[in-house]
Amino acid sequence: MIDLHTHSRESDGTDTPRQVLEAAAAAGLTAVALTDHDTTAGWADAAAAVARTGVALVRGVEISTRAATPAGGISVHLLAYLHDPEHPALLDELGRTRGDRMDRARRMTALLAQDFPLTWDDVVAQTHDGATVGRPHLADALVAAGVVASRDEAFATMLHPGAPYYVPHYAPDTADAVRAVLAAGGVPVMAHPRAGARGRVVTEATIEELAAAGLAGLEVDHRDHGDADRDRLRELAAELDLLVTGSSDYHGTGKLNRIGEHTTDADVLAEIERRGRLEVLRP
Ligand code: AMP
Ligand code: FE
Ligand code: FE
Ligand code: ZN
Repeated sequence: MIDLHTHSRESDGTDTPRQVLEAAAAAGLTAVALTDHDTTAGWADAAAAVARTGVALVRGVEISTRAATPAGGISVHLLAYLHDPEHPALLDELGRTRGDRMDRARRMTALLAQDFPLTWDDVVAQTHDGATVGRPHLADALVAAGVVASRDEAFATMLHPGAPYYVPHYAPDTADAVRAVLAAGGVPVMAHPRAGARGRVVTEATIEELAAAGLAGLEVDHRDHGDADRDRLRELAAELDLLVTGSSDYHGTGKLNRIGEHTTDADVLAEIERRGRLEVLRP
C-alpha cells in the first residue's frame, strides 16, 4: 500500500510531517510521499519518523506551475519525487513562488478586509511558521473569524478564482519546471490532470508536449477524477509511455481526502526510485 501525494502543515495540510507518517502507519501503508506545495521543509521531520512508524518515505514536492496554452495560462500541479533539494534552478523557482504566494496572500487579505472582519495577523495565526501560504490559510482565518463555516464554503465563495478577492501568484512554466525537476535528478508526475472542479484543465495536446519535455507520469487514481477521466488518462499514459500513479492528496483535517484512499503499484514506485537521484528512506 503506497500513497504518493500528501501534505503537512509545511504547506496547507494540518498534520506535522511526522504525523503524516503516523497517519500512514495507522492506515496500513508501507510507503508514503510527502509532497507539500512548493517546499521541502518537511522532509527532515518526516525522515525522523521512518524508523518509529515503519513507513518508508518518498521525499517529494508539489510544484505550482502554469502551462501556456492557446486558451491562456492554466494552473498545473507538478509532483516531483526524489530530486536533489539543493539544485539551484529548482530551489530558486520554489523560493520565488513561495515569496510571491506571501505577497498574494497579503493582497487577497487586504481585499477581503474591505468586506469582512479579517486581518493579516488572523492569517498568520493560521499558518505554521515558514509554511507555503495559500488560500487554505485564508479559509481557516475566515472560519476562525466566523465568516464561513468551513474551508469548503470559503473556496466555493470568496476564495473562488471567479471571486473579486482572488489574486493569482507567480508560477513557473510547466515545461520549464519538468526540465528543472529532471536536471535536479527528480521524477516529474502531473498531479490530478483532470481535476476540473478546481478550474480549467490542460488538453491532451499539452500533456503530449509535457511528455516530450520529459514528464514521467500521470496521477490517474485521485478523488477529483471520475471513472471516464481515469480510463482516458490510463489510455493516454499507455500511448505516451508514462507511469500511472494513484494517491490520496491527504491534507489532514483540511480536506475530506483520507490517507491511502488511492494507491500506487509497487513496481511503479520501484521505477520512480530507479530514475530518481535520492533513495526511498526505508525503516
Ligand atoms: P492556492 O494554491 O493557494 O491557490 O490554493 C489551492 C489549494 O487549496 C489546493 O492545493 C488545494 O489543496 C486547496 N483546496 C482547493 N479547494 C479546496 C476545498 N474546497 N477545501 C479545502 N482545500 C481546498
Ligand atoms: Fe493543497
Ligand atoms: Fe494539487
Ligand atoms: Zn496536493
